[in-house]
Amino acid sequence: MKTVCNFCKTEYSLDVVPNGPVKCAVCGNTWTVQRPQRRNPILVFIAALCALLAAIVFSVAVLYQNRVKEIRENPIVAEISEVTTDTDEVGVTRFVVSGRVVNRSEQIYGVPGLVVVSYDADGNIIARQRFMPSATLLDAGNEVKFSHKLSVPIANVEKIAVELEEQGK
Ligand SMILES: [Zn+2]
Repeated sequence: MKTVCNFCKTEYSLDVVPNGPVKCAVCGNTWTVQRPQRRNPILVFIAALCALLAAIVFSVAVLYQNRVKEIRENPIVAEISEVTTDTDEVGVTRFVVSGRVVNRSEQIYGVPGLVVVSYDADGNIIARQRFMPSATLLDAGNEVKFSHKLSVPIANVEKIAVELEEQGK
């Protein structure tokens, strides 16, 4: 262990803690070396617990921060809730895509146009159909539902996605 002369601050390294006082070789000052205290296992446990809790709080804070950043970058999201089919009078069946547009931010936003993208089994885009949701403005935390019928017949469509139309396009 280490001990420091409390007068001239010379550092000494000790292999064993002497029972009596030690004398500084530099300045002649004497002092008593304190034995290192045995750690109380309960205190060690509490310290470890506190460190763990701090780590959890930190990771929650990081998660929250990430979520805030993600919402700031994408305040408006569109999601599909249901895909049904509709058969017209000439017997052609098409998919009807329903979902919602959500404003996750704390400010009012204009609703962007939506694009329904249909893919075939190979992942190629069959059609991109643009449409506007019924609402033009979305208040903070509000959502607007949409429902849109695809133009392409059901047979070709393997996958459907809804995208927000990029602003300024
Ligand atoms: Zn000294």
